[in-house]
Order: sequence, then structure tokens, then C-alpha cells
Amino acid sequence: MNKKTKHIVIIGAGLVGSMHAIFLARRGYQVSVYEQLPDIRKEAIPAGRSINLALANRGIDALDHLGLMEQVNKLLIPMQGRMLHDEAGLLKLQSYGQKPEEVIYSVSRAGLVSLLRDAAEATDKVEFFFKHECLDIDFDNDQVTVNNKPAMKSEIIDYDYLIGADGGGSQVRESMKDLNETEFSAELLDHSYKELNIPADSDGGFQLEKEALHIWPRNDFMMIGLPNPEGTFTLTLFMPNQGPVSFETVNDKTSLNKLFDDCFADVKPLIPDLEHDYFNNPTGYLGTIRCNDWQYKNVVLSGDAAHAIVPFHGQGMNAGFEDCVAMEKALNQYHDDWQQAMPAFVENRMDNSNAIADMALENYVEMRSSVNDPKFHLKKAIAFELENRLPDYFIPRYSMVMFHLIPYATAFARGKIQFKILDSLVEGVDDISEVDFERAEWLIKQKLPPLNNHQRIKNPT
Ligand SMILES: Cc1cc2nc3c(=O)[nH]c(=O)nc-3n(C[C@H](O)[C@H](O)[C@H](O)COP(=O)(O)OP(=O)(O)OC[C@H]3O[C@@H](n4cnc5c(N)ncnc54)[C@H](O)[C@@H]3O)c2cc1C
Repeated sequence: MNKKTKHIVIIGAGLVGSMHAIFLARRGYQVSVYEQLPDIRKEAIPAGRSINLALANRGIDALDHLGLMEQVNKLLIPMQGRMLHDEAGLLKLQSYGQKPEEVIYSVSRAGLVSLLRDAAEATDKVEFFFKHECLDIDFDNDQVTVNNKPAMKSEIIDYDYLIGADGGGSQVRESMKDLNETEFSAELLDHSYKELNIPADSDGGFQLEKEALHIWPRNDFMMIGLPNPEGTFTLTLFMPNQGPVSFETVNDKTSLNKLFDDCFADVKPLIPDLEHDYFNNPTGYLGTIRCNDWQYKNVVLSGDAAHAIVPFHGQGMNAGFEDCVAMEKALNQYHDDWQQAMPAFVENRMDNSNAIADMALENYVEMRSSVNDPKFHLKKAIAFELENRLPDYFIPRYSMVMFHLIPYATAFARGKIQFKILDSLVEGVDDISEVDFERAEWLIKQKLPPLNNHQRIKNPT
């Protein structure tokens, strides 16, 4: 059999599974994708977690590889920075980057996944099987058992290689674990989230500044808001599960209204369905999954199935899309020899995934609390100035993650050194004019090697 006529099975037609399908079809493989849910293009089903997402450079790079950015552009709303809302309702825009192209984009999950599925089907090499749930895998015989829900029967499907892209609760990963072929840890965060909605105004316009990611940072909890093309905002309230202000205590209309009157007064009048949404929308749980291996025999994990992370860096999907590119590169490097390509893919991605998992956890503290500290803004300003002065040595960590393709592990390691330098520079300093930049440049060149050949921005607009 020609190696390209091999049959690849993908479990999960989410963002990552659908993107893998396009890459593999373009290489010439026959791809079957099994998805437990109905097709969102045909049936109105809840989009699941997060109605909209932040798309950044790594995701854009993957979409560019597939030539899809022209179509995706139509779905995007640029977000220049964080619009911070204090308790008095005062607003402050904190730019994400310092170049015009250093922005991130709000995109609808349903819109993007539909576009990817359409692109996969357009190759004529991908077949989606919706309402088919993966139940178990026979790793010795390269067979997967799926429950065909409409037919109410189990089916056994042969595969040559199988990609588990079935998300944070992955059944493929469970099957590997049952054979003791991987160990994984699931660290549940003791904070959860709830989605709320700001409708468009009577003219269909946005009720808050459109091109920003809005944040209401309240130290132990926070709310964020991302714009949608139809003039609405999706708000996500993140709170501890237990404690003084928590999902446990905000449990009736009185406590909910008090929370919003006390902490989110500027936005409360814009959420007409607050009570309905809070008490009817599901509470979403958050966690980090780390595995010690993502491959066993002819099966490999990708996306959230391998490395679910908390959403505070807006990188879960972006990291999953980067997985797809990494798999493509590994197959190129080993001329479609999967036995070599799969371990190479895992080796490339494992440390990077652990690094973004840690940075995502750190970013929660930054978003809900550090942004309230004037020193935080001073350090941001100094970091931008250092980037201007020494662009090959110093790029703010947020920018390395969001606007470059610098490996996450490199960004994490360099970021630790950079934070120490920034801490030392702001000691006894209240204004950027007081910073000793000569010492700063000397310190940086002592402690950080230059960043050579790093891949810079790709601007989709
Ligand atoms: C609140 C929130 C906000 C987020 N914001 C961002 C953001 O701004 N930017 C960003 O980059 N990322 C963000 N993320 C992360 C992002 O949602 C995930 O990283 C991304 O969805 C991962 O894609 P995936 O395809 O790997 O997994 P999923 O999107 O979970 O898709 C997995 C698919 O597999 C299917 N499936 C599961 N089990 C089975 C089975 N047994 N058989 C068949 N099918 C199965 C599921 O139905 C699903 O369709 C956010 C996450 C949350 C929770």
C-alpha cells in the first residue's frame, strides 16, 4: 500500500482535530474524524466552553500554512490591549504590544470550527462522523470502537494511525492510561467560570469599546469581556469555588446583585439577563493536564487531550494549532515515516506545553491582581523601552508568547530572567525617567544571550 493511502483516524472534530484533518488530507491521506457531538454547522448546539476566543500569532501562523487567513480575517475583531475597569468605573487601556500589528483577535469558536470543517471537507479526503463517540482503543490491533449514536450500535474501525484530539477529558488518553502507557496529572484550579452576555445596543452597536479585551480585575476574582461581530460581548466571570466571594456564596439573586452592584457597577446595567444567565449557564471548571508521554504504538495525542491549560494566556487553541504545524514538520522531516515522526513531534511539544501551562497559571494572577499595581505598569513601560533599545535581547514575555513564534519554553526561561531584571530596575523608582537604562542594558547583555533567527510577527490584517 502506498504510504499516503493509509487511513488516519482522528478522534474529536474540535478546533485541533479539524485542523489536523486538513493538514493530513493535503499530504494525501484518507482521514476519518469521529466526533461525539452533532455538527454545529447543521444543528444549533451550545458552542461549549467559551463562545469566543483570542487568536494570536501561533494560531495565525498555522492558519497561514493552510492558506485560510483570508477567510478567517472576516471573522476577526482586533483587540489592541486590555481595557481595565476599576471599581469606580474608570477605564485605562493597557496596550498588549507597541507596534501596530501587535494585537490579538477575538474569534467565534463556532465560526472558526465551522470554517475548518468546511476546509477539511473541501479536500475530498476527509469524512466527518458526527454523533460518534470513541469508547475504547485496541492498540495491538489498531482498532477503535465507536458508539454510533443515531444507529445505537458500536462499530469497530481500523486505522493505520490515530490522533487523539478529543479535548481535556480525552477518552484516547484514558485508554492509554488504562494500559499504563502514560501517566497524567489533572490539576483542577480552585476557581471556575460562568459566561454572561452584553447584547448589542438598539442600533446593533457595541456598548463597550469594541477593539479591546475588557477586564474587571478584583484581586481574588475577575471578569473579562471579548467582542463578537454582531455587536455583543461575551463576559466570563472567574471566581473561587469557595470563600468570601465565590460560586459557593454567590448563590441567589440577592448575593448576585450585591456582587455586581459592589464590584461591577459600570457594566451591570448592560447585562439585562444577568440573573437568568448566571443561574442557567453552566459553571465551567478549569484545570491543567500534563502527561509523561503522548504516544503509544500507532496512537498520538494532540491539543487539549495532551495538554489542557487554564485559559488566562489565551493560548490553548493557539498551542493546539501549533501542534498541528509541529506534526506537519515532523512528517516532512521523516518523509511520512510515522514511527519516527510521532516521537519527534512529542519531544518537540512536551516541554513547550508544560511551559505555556505554567505561564497560563501565572497570567491569572497578573490579570486579576497585578494589573492593579502601579509598579506593574511601570515595569511594562520599561520592558517596552528595553525592547526598543535591545530588540535582539529583550522582548516582553507576553509579546514573546503572543506575537512571536519563539518556543514557549524559551519564552518561559527568558521571561524569568527578564522579570528579575525588571524587579531590580524598579527598586526605589516611581517613574520611567528615573530608570538607569545604561545599567539595564549592561545587565541584559550579561544575563541573556541574543535571540537569533526568531520568527517574528505575521500580521493577518
Ligand atoms: C473559558 C475558556 C476560554 C478560552 N479562551 C481561549 C482563548 O482565548 N484562546 C485560546 O487559544 N484558547 C482558549 N481556550 C482554550 C481552548 O478552548 C482549547 O485549548 C481548545 O478548544 C482545544 O481544542 P481541542 O480541539 O484540542 O479540544 P476541544 O475544543 O475540547 O475539542 C475536542 C472535541 O472532541 C470531542 N470529543 C471528546 N470526547 C470524545 C469522544 N470520546 N469521542 C468523540 N469525540 C469526542 C468533543 O466533543 C470536542 O468537539 C479557552 C478555554 C476556556 C475553557
